[in-house]
Amino acid sequence: MRRSTTLDPDGRRVLVSNDFGDYAILSAADHADLLTGQIYNVHPKHADLEARALLDESPRDRWSDLERAAHATRKAFALEGPSLHIFVVTLRCDHSCHYCQVSRAAVGASGFDMSEADADAAVDLVFQSPSNDLTIEFQGGEPALRFDLVRRIVERAEARNLQAEHRLTFAMVSTLHHLTEDDLIFCRDHAIRLSTSIDGPAEWHDAHRPNPTRDSWERTIAALARARAILGDDGVSALPTLTRRSMAIVTGLNKIAPASYGVVIGVNFANQLVDEDDGKMVMMVSRMQRMENPSPQNLNGFLDGYRATGAYFLVPAVMRPGAAEPDVFEDLAILKRSLDLKAAWTITDNDMDMSILSDDDHPFVPDGVEDAPVIGALARIRELRQTRGQ
Ligand code: SF4
Repeated sequence: MRRSTTLDPDGRRVLVSNDFGDYAILSAADHADLLTGQIYNVHPKHADLEARALLDESPRDRWSDLERAAHATRKAFALEGPSLHIFVVTLRCDHSCHYCQVSRAAVGASGFDMSEADADAAVDLVFQSPSNDLTIEFQGGEPALRFDLVRRIVERAEARNLQAEHRLTFAMVSTLHHLTEDDLIFCRDHAIRLSTSIDGPAEWHDAHRPNPTRDSWERTIAALARARAILGDDGVSALPTLTRRSMAIVTGLNKIAPASYGVVIGVNFANQLVDEDDGKMVMMVSRMQRMENPSPQNLNGFLDGYRATGAYFLVPAVMRPGAAEPDVFEDLAILKRSLDLKAAWTITDNDMDMSILSDDDHPFVPDGVEDAPVIGALARIRELRQTRGQ
């Protein structure tokens, strides 16, 4: 069943949701179109609302097979009980990944590990679930730092399952660095699937996932090979963790107009694995905007807000001819938590934000900096533009 909830007092935004958990935030005008059946396939919202099964009021007696299957899948836990059980055996970890979502503790810290009594009680709790499928997943911190607890939990769960007879599976998310050969053999013998993160080439991985010796990528690659030699290729998976480093603000573009800056919105290049030697050409599309001689308060106010909250919204807007103010599409807002703020003089001739430079820019270069990278970048961009213009 579809429901509408007005989000602000003047009714400018309306939350539309359905029984499957899908939702969309619509402007008042789009919501009125929806209620009056005006959203046909040329309407800008049609594809999105259709994909989310929000076009139709969908009373249950008119659900399609697909809608019934979606509902059954999403609500299955209510009847079958929880199947995924996550064990955080320790919050300690030797990495300090920028995107870490747990309150990780230093490797030498105390008081951040699960006790054996809690581990045993947690296994007993898992077996209270009526679900046929039970997955025990070890996360951290770095669970390999307490592999003794991992062994204890796995062995206790297997013992309990001799009678309970669930479909029991194990998984572990780990950097792999601390797993010994014995640990890996235990993982193989007890079918513990391993999963790790590789965030691209060494430069990107080490920037996102620093460890004390700054060699996380090298150690992960070596550990992955070690693990695969024992568990087989299918026993270990490696995934990139995506970040949102796709918006840059470039300042100091021109010392003749010191408040000028540029905004570059591009693809998240760091998410794409590119083999430098495979001879492929990589293309990217970016949207750029130069702000020539604005009031310095504009950018400073934005940056103050970003530093205070750690977040901002990227929102599309259209300036219609003759209008005094733009139409802002708040329902399309994207919450962003990262921003690449860089001085123009640091841009190199391999920087993907190089295109923001104008041929006649005179970037501000701090005193004492000789051979600023931007000199090479400007030379390259001028050459490229000349070649393109011929
Ligand atoms: S390895 Fe995992 S737990 Fe450790 S800092 Fe990185 S994301 Fe956090």
